[in-house]
Amino acid sequence: MGLIVQKFGGSSVANAERVMNVARIVTDTYKKGNDVIVVVSAQGDTTDDLIEKANEINPNAAKREMDQLLTAGEQISISLLAMAIEKLGFPVISLLGWQAGFNTNSIYTAARIKNIRPNRLQAEIAKHNIVVVAGFQGINRYDDLTTLGRGGSDTSAVAIAAALKADKCQIFTDVEGVYTADPRKVENAKKLKEITYDEMLELATLGAQVLNNRSVEMAKKYGVELEVLSSLNPVPGTIVKEVAKMEKMLIRGVTKDKDVALVSILNLQDTPGIAFKIFSKLSSKNINVDIILQSIGRDGTKDLVFTVSKDNGPVAVELLEDMLDNCTIKCNTEVAKVSIVGAGMESHPGTASKMFEALYESNINIQMISTSEIKISVVIDAEAADRAVSAVHKAFIPNEL
Ligand code: ADP
Ligand code: ASP
Ligand code: MG
Repeated sequence: MGLIVQKFGGSSVANAERVMNVARIVTDTYKKGNDVIVVVSAQGDTTDDLIEKANEINPNAAKREMDQLLTAGEQISISLLAMAIEKLGFPVISLLGWQAGFNTNSIYTAARIKNIRPNRLQAEIAKHNIVVVAGFQGINRYDDLTTLGRGGSDTSAVAIAAALKADKCQIFTDVEGVYTADPRKVENAKKLKEITYDEMLELATLGAQVLNNRSVEMAKKYGVELEVLSSLNPVPGTIVKEVAKMEKMLIRGVTKDKDVALVSILNLQDTPGIAFKIFSKLSSKNINVDIILQSIGRDGTKDLVFTVSKDNGPVAVELLEDMLDNCTIKCNTEVAKVSIVGAGMESHPGTASKMFEALYESNINIQMISTSEIKISVVIDAEAADRAVSAVHKAFIPNEL
C-alpha cells in the first residue's frame, strides 16, 4: 500500500482495447489499496500526425502554436482512459498538465519543468480518486501551454513521483524492460534485471528511446527508483536505480543514434583562439556540439571536425561560412553514432579494442571516436549503423545471459 505513479506510452493506449487494458492494470493496483496517479501519452502516432498536419499548413509555425496543437494529443488519451476506468466502476478524474500543477519555463516545444504545485493532485488523492494526468505538458508564467520535448511523458511521471514522494514509479511500454540493445532490431538482445541511473542516462542520451534522458536525470536527482515494464505482458521488468548488480557484464548495452550531422572545416587557419571563436558562435545560437576532433597543425592550417544534431548541421555550416575565410566547410548528414555503455568497462582495459575489432571484422570504417568512463562512441556511415550494432552486441553480450 502506498502512492504509485504509473506511466503508459502511446502504443499502450493506441486503441479502445489497449485503453481498457490500461484501465484494468490501473484499477488492479488501486484495488490492492494503493493511491494511483496515472500519466499517459498521446495515442499511437498522434503526436507525429499532429506535427505532419502543422507542416502541411506552415512548416515554420511559431513554437507556441505547435505547443497549443501538440498538447491536444494527451488531452484525448486522459479523457478516454478516465472513461474506461469509470466504466470499470472506479472513482477517477483526468487532469491536464496545468490542472495537475505543472509549471514550466517558456522554451516552447522543449520546456523544462520548474516545479509542480501539488495541491490539486493531493486533493484528488485525498478524495480517493484515481488521477489521470496528461504527460508531456505544462504551463508557463504567461499562462501559455508548453510541451517538454519528444518522449517527455516519462519526465512528467518522474516529476510527479518526486514531488509527491511516491513509493513507486512504473513506466509501462511496449517492450518488457530495458534491453542490451533495441529488442526490435537486435535478435539476441537481453532484458536487464537492473541498471544504474548513470548507465541508463548514457543509453537514453545515446539513442535508446525506451526512457527519455531527462526523466532519468530527474530520477537520479530525486532518488526515484524506476521500473520499466510491459503493459501487455505482466512479467518483471527492469529496475533503474543507484547501484545495480553487475551480472558479470562488461557493458550494459549498445545503442545507435541517427540524429547526427558531421561538420568538417578543412584548411582552417591554425591561430590561437580559433576554436573558441567557432564554438562560442555555435553555442550563442544554442547549437549543441557533441564529438570534436582536431588534426595537428601543418603549414599554418589544420582540420576541425565535429558532430551536431541533423537539424543543426546546415545551420552550423551557414554560421561558419559567414565567419571563416579561405577554408572548406562541409556537412555530412549520412552518419550515425554507435555506442557501448557500461560501468564495467572502467576497470577493463581492452574494451575499446574489442569494439573496434568487431567493427573491423564487419568491414565498417570508423570516422570518429569518443570515450568517457562508462561509454565509447564511434561515428560511422549511417548505412552501416544496424550492422554495427549487431556486430558489437554479438562481441560483448554472451548468448547464455
Ligand atoms: P512509449 O510509447 O511507451 O514511450 P517508446 O517508443 O518511446 O515507448 O520506447 C519504447 C521503444 O524503445 C521500444 O519499442 C524499443 O523499440 C525502443 N528501444 C530502443 N532501445 C531499447 C533498449 N535498449 N531497450 C528497450 N527498448 C528499446
Ligand atoms: N506524445 C509525446 C511524444 O510522442 C510525448 C511522449 O510520448 O512521451 O513525444
Ligand atoms: Mg517514450
